[in-house]
Amino acid sequence: MVKARGLVLVNTGPGKGKTTAALGTVIRALGHGQKVAFIQFIKSQETGESQFLENLARENTGCLHYARHGKGFVGKNPTQADRTLAEDGLELAVSLAFDYDLMVLDEINVAMSLGLLEPERVVGFISNKPLGLNLILTGRGCPQPVMELADTVTEMRDVKHAYRAGIPACPGIDF
Ligand code: ATP
Ligand code: MG
Repeated sequence: MVKARGLVLVNTGPGKGKTTAALGTVIRALGHGQKVAFIQFIKSQETGESQFLENLARENTGCLHYARHGKGFVGKNPTQADRTLAEDGLELAVSLAFDYDLMVLDEINVAMSLGLLEPERVVGFISNKPLGLNLILTGRGCPQPVMELADTVTEMRDVKHAYRAGIPACPGIDF
């Protein structure tokens, strides 16, 4: 069977749901027997999804690769170490791209908007990606050239968030 052209999806905007929507797509793809690579930028802390995906990757069925390429908060003046970590994440994406059906680059839009990764490098990656690879880029502040290359762009709108009513981040809902 000839493989369909892979799509590029962007989940961006200030509202909640960018990463969780990508995780929903991961479940869909795995259910179809597809192979998934999930690379997280910026984030360093354990989350429900990181524990779940790490455990699944450890079972070593070959269906999932999970990696974290962040060290947490990055200020307005990122260090060379911050940049190197993000660049290594993109290098990993390049090296895995041919072996997977779906790749999620979680918070890569934030890495670009903080100046850790040149948007041109991500544009280059998208332009040269394997034909059949489905790619999801998440995070607020997606640069315009990346959005122009994408097939589907969803901007989450922040209508209301519990955080502003003083409700702290909730395990299972927020992380
Ligand atoms: P999620 O991981 O819940 O899908 P997200 O990927 O859309 O959220 P991020 O910008 O990655 O959003 O932020 C992750 C964390 O910040 C989550 O705990 C999320 O609930 C919280 N968050 C997202 N949007 C807002 C908001 N508008 N105000 C306050 N907290 C938010
Ligand atoms: Mg997110």
